[in-house]
Amino acid sequence: MRVLITGAAGFLGSHLTDRFLADGHEVVGLDNFITGHADNIAHLTGNPRFSLVRHNISEYTYIAGPLDGVLHFASPASPIDYLKLPIQTLKVGSLGTHNALGIALAKKARFFLASTSEVYGDPLVHPQVESYWGNVNPVGPRGVYDEAKRFAEAMTMAYHRHHAVDTRIVRIFNTYGPRMRPRDGRVVSNLIVQALNGEPLTIYGDGSQTRSFCYVSDEVEGIYRLFMHGDPGPTNIGNPTEFTVRQLAELVMELTGAKGPITFAPLPEDDPKVRRPDITRARTLLGWEPTVDLRTGVQRTIDYFRGLLGTPRMRADA
Ligand code: UDP
Repeated sequence: MRVLITGAAGFLGSHLTDRFLADGHEVVGLDNFITGHADNIAHLTGNPRFSLVRHNISEYTYIAGPLDGVLHFASPASPIDYLKLPIQTLKVGSLGTHNALGIALAKKARFFLASTSEVYGDPLVHPQVESYWGNVNPVGPRGVYDEAKRFAEAMTMAYHRHHAVDTRIVRIFNTYGPRMRPRDGRVVSNLIVQALNGEPLTIYGDGSQTRSFCYVSDEVEGIYRLFMHGDPGPTNIGNPTEFTVRQLAELVMELTGAKGPITFAPLPEDDPKVRRPDITRARTLLGWEPTVDLRTGVQRTIDYFRGLLGTPRMRADA
């Protein structure tokens, strides 16, 4: 297969690119590097089955040659990024999705949308099952991401129903691992980088809010199987084991040997209180479930960030 992956220099996009290349496919990666990083794809330089297009998918583009798949992974995805880049976030979810769907339609390619557990907002149904429509504040600060992804899902289904494009929608829950940006603001990267740098660990709120953290290799395997063997229905891919943020901070301190201190900061507006995927659909449709537990995954992520210690990317102002 020959596939286009938008956001190929990002955290998930680069791992997904590796997955397709490992199976012998050809990947055209597209990125504008506003949150992606060249380091994530540096190892692909000279690979004859990988090519890179430097472009913002929110603007129209033409891709030469045949394509069997278009996977739309470009978007700021960390709360601090989409608060800093609200318009770009809205545009890549709406205009970017429209452009990517247009490419899929023109090439008769399968389209795959990276959606998010954020479509469930601050959920009133727990765990979150795909049939739940969510509890999203459209005018809150997170609305720029949540509503862009909800629009992207609606647009994807319209292309499926109206243009008969073969489509997939994955709802990605909190994912972590190597190649996250050290200072991207997300909880796993933040706590590990703070611990390694000897800085205080920041917990927002009292740390009783929950998340369910999926290690990146598990997430990418689920995404790959959904692309290959799934159907158009939205599908949760995430780890169903739930932890409080405080438990995560304690695990990071134990594995790094950091002594803290922990400092408490106000909970951001509309921060979901709980989050856990119901993965019954992925289990039955794809035979997929996560295999890497939090302790193992956090240890691997610590090892990755240790390798970046002392580089400018690890600095607090990066
Ligand atoms: N959080 C925290 N300390 C940090 C960063 C995040 O306590 O340094 C909290 C945040 O308020 C949220 C959870 O950790 O409740 C997960 O945040 P993240 O930004 O990773 O992603 P989200 O799940 O909110 O999209």
